[in-house]
Amino acid sequence: MPKKKSSPDWSYAAAPESTPVNISKRYDHFIGGKWTAPSNTKYFSTTNPATGKKLSEVAEGSEADVDAAVKAARAAYNGAWGKMSGRERGKYIYRIARLIQERAREFAIIETMDGGKPIRESRDVDIPLAANHFFYYAGWADKLDYAFPNQKVTSLGVAGQVIPWNFPFLMAAWKLAPALATGNTVVLKPAETTPLTALKLAELIADAGLPDGVVNIVTGAGETGAAIVNHPDVNKVAFTGSTAVGKLIQKSVAHTEKKLTLELGGKAANIILEDAAIDQAVEGIVNGIYFNQGHVCCAGSRLFVQENVFDEVMWKLKRRMDTLIVGDPLDKNTDVGAINSKGQLKTIQRYIKAGVKDGAEMYQPSCSLPEKGNWCPPTVFTNVAQSSIIAQEEIFGPVLAVQTFRTVPEVIEKANNTPYGLSAGVWTDKGARMFQITTNLQAGVVWGNTFNKFDPTSPFGGFKESGYGREGGLHGLGAYLNLEI
Ligand code: NAP
Ligand code: MG
Repeated sequence: MPKKKSSPDWSYAAAPESTPVNISKRYDHFIGGKWTAPSNTKYFSTTNPATGKKLSEVAEGSEADVDAAVKAARAAYNGAWGKMSGRERGKYIYRIARLIQERAREFAIIETMDGGKPIRESRDVDIPLAANHFFYYAGWADKLDYAFPNQKVTSLGVAGQVIPWNFPFLMAAWKLAPALATGNTVVLKPAETTPLTALKLAELIADAGLPDGVVNIVTGAGETGAAIVNHPDVNKVAFTGSTAVGKLIQKSVAHTEKKLTLELGGKAANIILEDAAIDQAVEGIVNGIYFNQGHVCCAGSRLFVQENVFDEVMWKLKRRMDTLIVGDPLDKNTDVGAINSKGQLKTIQRYIKAGVKDGAEMYQPSCSLPEKGNWCPPTVFTNVAQSSIIAQEEIFGPVLAVQTFRTVPEVIEKANNTPYGLSAGVWTDKGARMFQITTNLQAGVVWGNTFNKFDPTSPFGGFKESGYGREGGLHGLGAYLNLEI
């Protein structure tokens, strides 16, 4: 009798990224082109969420530090940068873009170490997109009069920018590139848990030879952000973060002349019709909510499946979830990395418990999770009531809430039944249905037969509690300019 073959092991060998990177033990603020110690002499640690190990310590920004940064930005605005032609400004921005490309691997590794996202995402998505943003806006710097014909175009002055931890480097690029192209100067604060790539960007900006004070990076937590927003000499506030903080900021600038753009939370609907290419749609669901641990403002966290393909979609989705690799974010095979912070992990776990308590049915693949660090397996809930907390609130983790529908009007109503309106996705083979649904969804971005795709030329932003103003494209330029007829 032939000997029975043991089943082959299809798992991938570990492929960790091993390029050495240079992270200093301590970082000061980057103010007026110089590394500047915090006035209160305080520093705080930033850790690797996949290991719990400290990576570095960074300065805690006080009101005095923010004031120094705004003064440096004002001096640069009144000085070299404000007087420079758009053509010259463009050259600096092109240089930043090229330097990012040259140092892309280093940035990708540090982004992954500080934030926990898989190296595949930071290497293939975040860093290249950030470079593209700088390239795109560099091209506009000397063409502002063409961008807004028959209007008088002037810069605003000093922009105060506050960004979150889920796309630390990409959000810095989204903020800096249009502000610089339009001739403004900047004070930017990265999130407390992910300050390192913004600080490395400060190094790169110094290498690019930008005049001192054009870009200032101040690190710190919420109070530092509030000090930037409330500084009387800031002309424009650009914020990306939670709806709760966005509302606070809106109130605090209400009595001022500051211009404001808010990119806030989301609860995107991903809609699968019966005639969709199901395998492709399942990949879109996985990309929409599981890659990047669901730490995406436009994550497809609500899935609506037409009733007659529900069984097929769920069977295929669960099989695909079983193959997802959760673990070391520096491993090139990893699909789902570490949850950014202990606090965020607790929030996600609280929502998962609430979903179970609400009577929804939960499925998690039986993957083994590393012992140290912050981890959450990909999770899907079916039988979710529209009123359930997991269908209503932003979870910001790898947790999907699935509902079914029978008719197109029904799914449009259900998808719009949320306080948010940032993004959505529709999967169908029929163009007419695609347009019928996409034109009726209250969402700033709607993807057709794809999900989570970004392009610097395309405006991005929300409706309702997802904020207002647009970043990207021509719209993104307008947000940093005074336009007079
Ligand atoms: P968050 O708590 O609102 O924090 C965002 C940033 O604001 C951080 O730098 C934070 O500092 C700072 N901050 C906190 N309180 C502040 C205050 N009172 N005044 C000024 N700044 C303050 O948001 P998060 O939890 O870090 O980020 C996740 C949220 O961002 C999600 O809701 C997500 O949907 C949203 N988001 C939206 C987009 C978009 O484009 N629409 C993109 C990415 C993320 P700390 O360092 O202390 O956190
Ligand atoms: Mg960190």
